[in-house]
Amino acid sequence: MKYVDEYRDAGLVRGLADAIARTVTQPWTIMEICGGQTHAIVKFGLDDLLPPAITLVHGPGCPVCVTSADLIDTAVDLALQHRVILCSFGDMLRVPGNGIDLLTAKARGGDIRIVYSPLDAVALAREHPGREVVFFAVGFETTAPANAMAVLRAEREGVRNFSLLTSHVLVPPAMRAILGAPDNRVQGFLAAGHVCTIMGVQEYGPIARDHHAPIIITGFEPVDILEGILLCVKQLESGRAEVENAYSRAVRTEGNVHARGIVERVFVVADRDWRGLGVIPASGLAVRPEYAAYDALRRFPCAACAARAASECISGEIMRGVKKPHHCPAFGTRCTPEHPLGAPMVSSEGACAAYHRYRARAA
Ligand code: SF4
Repeated sequence: MKYVDEYRDAGLVRGLADAIARTVTQPWTIMEICGGQTHAIVKFGLDDLLPPAITLVHGPGCPVCVTSADLIDTAVDLALQHRVILCSFGDMLRVPGNGIDLLTAKARGGDIRIVYSPLDAVALAREHPGREVVFFAVGFETTAPANAMAVLRAEREGVRNFSLLTSHVLVPPAMRAILGAPDNRVQGFLAAGHVCTIMGVQEYGPIARDHHAPIIITGFEPVDILEGILLCVKQLESGRAEVENAYSRAVRTEGNVHARGIVERVFVVADRDWRGLGVIPASGLAVRPEYAAYDALRRFPCAACAARAASECISGEIMRGVKKPHHCPAFGTRCTPEHPLGAPMVSSEGACAAYHRYRARAA
């Protein structure tokens, strides 16, 4: 398949792994931000090709994994107490809240529907004018334009019974939080290429400079990832900390200016509570006051917002690169894809799900 096969070429992969081995002279810890990259690394065994001096740790770039348990509770509350039609991507249904998950809420009579686009939810609202329809808008910078477009479409068509429950998160503030943590061990980043197709690369320069950490904009296939690691190792070995775009076939320096404009029209930057990481200032998107009519949190009084006791899930330490999934005592025993205790075991981009799916060994 064009644009896929050439980036899985075994000869290129081996050549890049050899180049990394020739370049490295001391231990380095590199974090791939995106859960899609984590799955590619584990699926293709790329970490097994690297010299032992390179440690890859897995970042918070799985939107399902970082959606707070309180927001899951709020979604459950909207479905069961406010009796809205709650629309969500399928990944979210089995993510544990503080109480029940959305699948259980559906079994208890909640009208919870899996959709494939926020526009499906707008269409549902149009078809059911007597019902309130809420779309659970989860995601990073990549999904924000489509959700903003849904609000603008609803406004243009006069659909008044549609709103968003937003859990939008932003990558750069999370990178700063990880690098600034007292127990940080990350020395360089593979940044998520698809986020940069929207946002461009300008935000990363100050992060690389302030924290002296190289940031390589990286794609998702084996050749992409190993090339990103090679560029990162070269910088680390030479004492440089710069931003490099290794995904230029998709990412322009300025990103997608039109998409960014739509996002800025509907959303405003706000503090966000990341599951496992806590509240990170200015790390999320909320619906602008001008569009309050499309903001589920403003339309419906929230009865399920109090934080409750944390579970035994160590996803926060995993997403900061301090631990790996097999370090969790519940991994593969009390926590499995069939009976998940934490979101990273549920999501198709979760690190725990990747290890469980592709790694029989627990080391
Ligand atoms: S194995 Fe389960 S409980 Fe442990 S960190 Fe992963 S999701 Fe959380």
